[in-house]
Order: sequence, then structure tokens, then C-alpha cells
Amino acid sequence: MKVGFIGLGIMGKPMAAHLIRMGYETYLFDLNTDAVNELKAIGGHACGSNKEVAKNSDVIITMLPAGKHVSLVLFTEEGIASNCKPGTIIIDMSSVKPEESKEFANKLKEYNIHFIDAPVSGGEPMAIEGTLSIMAGGNEEHFNKVLPLLQVMGEHIVHMGPTGTGSATKLANQILVSTHLAALAEASVYASKAGIDLNKLYEAVRSGLAGSAVMDAKMQRIIDRDFEPGGKIETNFKDLGNIQASANTLGVPLPVTNLVKEIFGSEIANGNGGNDHCYIIDFFEKMANH
Ligand code: NAD
Repeated sequence: MKVGFIGLGIMGKPMAAHLIRMGYETYLFDLNTDAVNELKAIGGHACGSNKEVAKNSDVIITMLPAGKHVSLVLFTEEGIASNCKPGTIIIDMSSVKPEESKEFANKLKEYNIHFIDAPVSGGEPMAIEGTLSIMAGGNEEHFNKVLPLLQVMGEHIVHMGPTGTGSATKLANQILVSTHLAALAEASVYASKAGIDLNKLYEAVRSGLAGSAVMDAKMQRIIDRDFEPGGKIETNFKDLGNIQASANTLGVPLPVTNLVKEIFGSEIANGNGGNDHCYIIDFFEKMANH
């Protein structure tokens, strides 16, 4: 099985590296040629365009910032749909709206191309370890065909149901991640102002009911003031917008998520969108004059 991989950023690069190391013949493209060359050095095939990836691959993985980038890569003249073989399976692992996943799948059907939405959770550390959680939607037969590939990149892989259910699951995941991050930031600023050492806060709280994977991933970064992006504020903000749009179509109110989105938006307005999403602690620190 020849694999195409498009979108070699924070997440895509380590994910593609696992496939290459596992011996898959992997065809690579990103607008950032440095990322492509880095993977070429470990045995990947560097391509000069999305079209070249399309022509060489049986399965194509996309790991792009948002739905508009996926749409561009799939449906422009130089893109995937008009250049790959009928029967190709596209696995979109980007976080997009479920409505977008369904639209992509429907349009691709016209080309006899199959589509799986398979977004991920776990961030850069789990992408590097190859232990991502993967939530997939789409035809079960196609899912089973690409499952061995997903198993190279992830440890917990769940087929959620038809097209769009992977993306909807990821949005539910992002409600939890974003609100946890805001709660973690608020609690940290409170504790710090109360004279509590954050290392001790973490030690005391992590194994009780309030401990969480978000805390384990981000508390040390907050303590170390390490805000180099794993997941960027602007990427998380995109997810929050997608959650609002999708929930709106379902008539689901989002009182907590809406508030948290304002906090992320404020950090973007202040020029901090490129920082790691745990940098939203800045919002709480400024509010508390801390
Ligand atoms: P990123 O910005 O680091 O990487 C995106 C890559 O896509 C970049 O290298 C960019 O050059 C490339 N790209 C953009 N347009 C392109 C095009 N037309 N053709 C080819 N390449 C193009 O983003 P990321 O953090 O790796 O996130 C990727 C996706 O994964 C997003 O949808 C994000 O929501 C999701 N995600 C991210 C994390 C995280 O912690 N970073 C965790 C889970 C899911």
C-alpha cells in the first residue's frame, strides 16, 4: 500500500515519520519544503505538489489546519480528487466540522474516491510516541482496510459510525480540552495568589478527582512558562468556532464553551495566537493582576 501524506506540521510530521519507519512507501507534500526534506532524509519520497502525491498513492492522509485547507487540497485542479486513481481512500485526520467531512465525502463519491474522517487527540507528544487517540467515521469496510495504517500512528482507535461521526467526536473532545484548559489556568492563578507552589498543587491534585490528562500534559508547561506551541491557541480557537457552528445546526446551547471561546479570542486579539493553548493562563493572570 503506497501512502500519501499532505500536511507535515506539528502533528503531521511525526505521524508521517512513523509510517516511513514502519516501511510504508510514503509520498509527501507540504508548502513548507523543510518539513518534506526532513522526512525525505529518513526514507520518504518528496513530492513537489499535491498532484504528485495523488498520482503515486493508494491511500492519502491529510493533516491540515482547517476545513478550508482540506477543501483546497482535495478539489482544486492541481489537487487530489482530479488526479488520484478511482478507489483511492482519503483519510482526513485534520480537525474539521462534521458537516465539512460529509461534504468532502459526497463530492469525492463523484470521483469514485472513498473518504474517512479520522481526527486525533493527544497532541504533539502522542504524535511523536505514536500513541494518538483516533476517532474515525465512514464506511466500515474502508475503515478496516486502513486500520493497520492508523495503528502505526495511534494506540486507541475507535470507529464511531458513518461519515462525520469522527469529526463530531473530535469536537466533543475539544469542548472537554478547551474548558479543562481554562479551568486549569483559573485554578493555577487562584492557587498561586493564595501562596501555593504550583509544583505542590500538581502533586496534591493530580491523583484526586481533579487530576486529568490535560493537567498531566500542560501543568508542567505552565510551571516552566514553556509556551512553545504543541497545540496553538489559534488552532484551538478554530475548533471552538467549529463547535459553535455545528452545535448551532443541532440547536445545542454551549454556555460554557462560548465563554471559553471568548478567552481564546482575546489572546488572539492580543497577538498570542501562535503560543501553546495553555498560554490562555495569561488572560487569567492579567485579570487577577498577577
Ligand atoms: P500546523 O499548522 O503545525 O501544520 C499544518 C501544516 O499544513 C503546515 O505544515 C502547513 O504548511 C501545511 N499546509 C497548509 N496548507 C497546505 C496546502 N495547501 N498544501 C500542503 N500543505 C499545506 O498544524 P498542526 O498543529 O499540525 O494541526 C494539524 C491539524 O491537526 C489541525 O486540524 C489541528 O486542529 C489538528 N490537531 C492538532 C493538535 C495539536 O496539538 N497541534 C492536536 C490534535 C489535532
